[in-house]
Formats: sequence, C-alpha cells, structure tokens
Amino acid sequence: MSDRKTVSIKGVDDWNDMLWILAHREAQIYMNDDKWYVLVNNPCSFYDPARGCLIYPKRPRICREHTWKDCEYKEDYNFDLHFHSYEELERFIRNNVVEE
Ligand code: SF4
Repeated sequence: MSDRKTVSIKGVDDWNDMLWILAHREAQIYMNDDKWYVLVNNPCSFYDPARGCLIYPKRPRICREHTWKDCEYKEDYNFDLHFHSYEELERFIRNNVVEE
C-alpha cells in the first residue's frame, strides 16, 4: 500500500517544502480536488509478501483509513496536478506560481 498525506501549500515556503519532498528518490506529489498528497513509491518495510502486514494490529492511522482498493500505486489515476520530480515541480513553479 502506498502512503499519502495532505500537504498545505499557501505560500512560497510551502512550494519550497514540496521541492524538498521531491528531492527524495521515488517521492511524488499530486493534487486532487484541491488537496495535496505525497505519494511514497516504495514498499513498506513492514509488508511481507507471504504474511501481509507484520504490524497489522498497530498499523499507523493512514493505513487504517485506506484500503488496497484506493491505492494510487496500482491504478492509473488522472490527478489534477502530478509531479514526479524536483525539476518538474521547479518548472511548474517558475511558469505558474505568482508571489502574493
Ligand atoms: S504498515 Fe502494514 S498496512 Fe501499513 S503500509 Fe505497511 S504493510 Fe501496509
């Protein structure tokens, strides 16, 4: 299961924080219905292919709130915005974000 998290982006600092996230290998950010999410494209260290979740009874809240049915990892979603790399987001900021 991929993890996702809401990110608030109201100003320049938030855009800069998003660049920091995308400086990390395999991280992606997407926006859907005016909410931002971080997509972690790495397998969870607690997932065992034979036994499933090794910490199931005490798995984190984000795991409890999502099922494999709405996992972005396997589906081909059409997000409103989707950034796969630092350079892609940097280009978007340069061309689309206006300082207030
Ligand atoms: S902790 Fe368990 S439920 Fe949560 S992502 Fe890892 S394997 Fe999946």
